[in-house]
Amino acid sequence: MTNARKTALHTVVNREIIHPQLAGAKVSDYYASNVFNDAAMREYLSDEAYKAVKTAMKTGTKISREIADAVAAGMKNWAISKGAISYTHWFQPLTGLTAEKHDMFFTPKGDGAIEVFSGDALVQQEPDASSFPSGGIRATFEARGYTAWDPGSPAFIMEIGDGKTLCIPTIFISYTGESLDYKAPLLKSSHLLEEAALPVVHLFDKDATRVTATLGWEQEYFLVDEALYNLRPDLMFAGRTLVGAAPQKGQQFEDHYFGSIPERVYAFMLDLETECHKLGIPIRTRHNEVAPAQFECAPMFEEVNVAVDHNQLLMDLMDRVARRHKLRVLLHEKPFAGINGSGKHNNWSLSTDTGKNLLSPGKTPKNNLLFLTFFVNVIKAVSEYADLLRASIASANNDHRLGANEAPPAIISVFIGSFMKDVLDEIEKRVAKGKYDELTNATLKLDIHKKIPDVLLDNTDRNRTSPFAFTGNKFEFRAVGSSANCALPMTIMNAIVARQLMHFKAEVDKLMKDGESKDGAIMRVIRQYITESKNILFEGDGYSEAWEKEAKKRGLSNVKTTPYALDFYTTRKAKEVLVDTGIFSQRELEARVEVYHHHYILKIDTEARIIADLALNQVIPAAIEYMNKLIANVRGLKEAGISAATVKAQKDLLAQINGHINAIKDNVDKMNAVREKAPHDSSASTSKYYCDKVKPYFNEIRTHVDALETLIDDNLWPLPKYREMLFIR
Ligand code: ADP
Ligand code: MG
Repeated sequence: MTNARKTALHTVVNREIIHPQLAGAKVSDYYASNVFNDAAMREYLSDEAYKAVKTAMKTGTKISREIADAVAAGMKNWAISKGAISYTHWFQPLTGLTAEKHDMFFTPKGDGAIEVFSGDALVQQEPDASSFPSGGIRATFEARGYTAWDPGSPAFIMEIGDGKTLCIPTIFISYTGESLDYKAPLLKSSHLLEEAALPVVHLFDKDATRVTATLGWEQEYFLVDEALYNLRPDLMFAGRTLVGAAPQKGQQFEDHYFGSIPERVYAFMLDLETECHKLGIPIRTRHNEVAPAQFECAPMFEEVNVAVDHNQLLMDLMDRVARRHKLRVLLHEKPFAGINGSGKHNNWSLSTDTGKNLLSPGKTPKNNLLFLTFFVNVIKAVSEYADLLRASIASANNDHRLGANEAPPAIISVFIGSFMKDVLDEIEKRVAKGKYDELTNATLKLDIHKKIPDVLLDNTDRNRTSPFAFTGNKFEFRAVGSSANCALPMTIMNAIVARQLMHFKAEVDKLMKDGESKDGAIMRVIRQYITESKNILFEGDGYSEAWEKEAKKRGLSNVKTTPYALDFYTTRKAKEVLVDTGIFSQRELEARVEVYHHHYILKIDTEARIIADLALNQVIPAAIEYMNKLIANVRGLKEAGISAATVKAQKDLLAQINGHINAIKDNVDKMNAVREKAPHDSSASTSKYYCDKVKPYFNEIRTHVDALETLIDDNLWPLPKYREMLFIR
């Protein structure tokens, strides 16, 4: 029998590069050609319908039945002109994936058929909600769920081979109106943020009528050959390797980062980019990442709702395009032990319809006060609600990154760079208590408007160890996991900043009422915030043990695992920011936390089953086969008259291998026993049970499996090895 792994390796070595078909000579020829964008709407909608959609996009106003019919007709005609024969509401349930349920446009009529698409079908659909996670909402209420059109994100056509489907971005809610997805809370948080930010912007700029959060994500991922992937049940079902010895050549040489892109991967990237560009996803950068076989792509930033949809769409496309190239994309946060994991930096800022980036230092003192106001309020928000940000990125996958001596630590801190640190220190010093009149002067004397713009952009040191960093004109939340839906961390980000800005405005108003000048009041509150949020600022090495100690002294949380981080959602502060503001009802929030615990439990339980299966059905049999070879060899040597003393190597190997086999079997048995005793619910205590009682066996078992991998005949080892998955292209 030939070893399946060896056959797969042979396949990999002989792979031909599949060069993609480009959609045109230059990107602008086909960019957004599959999007029902402004140009398409102008062409396919009446003036009245066009205006109504535009207003709805801006203000969230309701669209009348007649207008919805008109929009649906226009959208259908556009989609059919592109070759679409079906449509679907496209939504983001709490599974973390996107979901769709396709319907055909045609309806039989007379002998034949006609294509129809009504306003009703555009605005609302009723997929069966009962198979999506709801955290008990569906148990107590109706199983029915609704998807409702989100005019803020443009409809698009998904092409799969020759099949084309019109996809309508929607939110997903229960029969009783509770949100069952990631998008509805995000939209609410954006609305809240706008309401909170506008009055603050108006202190400086009376013309602004809109404030939107912007998001530019950076997506990291690994690629593995399909033939090898298919021999790894752990990659297939858990998304990460649960066993595997470290390769002789890891990332310690650091020669992969920004290195030349392998041709096969380049072909995949081109193909992916073409698909993205047709869908109006503004992907612009691509490069190798730190780990071998790890890569990154990033778009131009967009309004947060659209950016979130585009990232979800991208992850879906990546998977599909990779398969065309006989590759598999790994979006897991930590597919391989011992080398870097993958994140998804969320670059976040705020911009106005008057064209201002509120986190971009201006060229005048007045603009700088605006900048400082938002800059300091974000820091204060993170300082107040760091625990919520931590909770927003909690997942079983991300636990392998956060606090595991790489990527950002589990401690949330803010990096602002030495220049801005000095500016804040200066403000704190100069804006002394009580001397109201001098406040404005004090800012002017700082002269920061002369220095900030130039110095900052090239001076915000790239401290890669910080989970949350100011990078010149935006904040970068780096602790987000690569497989996460950005909507959740962005919802929390929007919410905490909104809450903070409301406090700020109230405090400034109060000082002004007491006779303080506007600038004076702003500076005084800013100064107070600087003092109050100093604890969250950290410029040093976030991976160091010294920082863990220091953070503890400062009272910053350092929660390394998901079940415990989720507890932050049940605190008074969480309620204040998430429930009192109307983003979630108490019930929705509780339901969500239950869903997240459930995910965690499922994940650990699945991994436990896979690791047991790998150990008992693949690893131990291979080890025994090798032992039998050794035994036969020892026996043969004896028959040949070779003295027992000279078969020491074989005997040592036998003893070593046998020791590992026993340890594996013993630990698998113990793990199974513990797992079988786990309660069958989705409570916090059950997820903690899995975390504390089941998960620790993974490393125990793995240590012995990995030791066996280094001892056993390479021809007998069944699982593709790290060096093969990471280095063969
Ligand atoms: P890095 O050095 O972290 O890799 P890049 O320059 O590659 O940073 O990526 C920066 C990301 O930040 C891009 O996705 C970009 O669109 C985004 N970005 C830039 N300006 C803003 C902004 N005002 N709001 C949100 N995201 C932004
Ligand atoms: Mg970045």
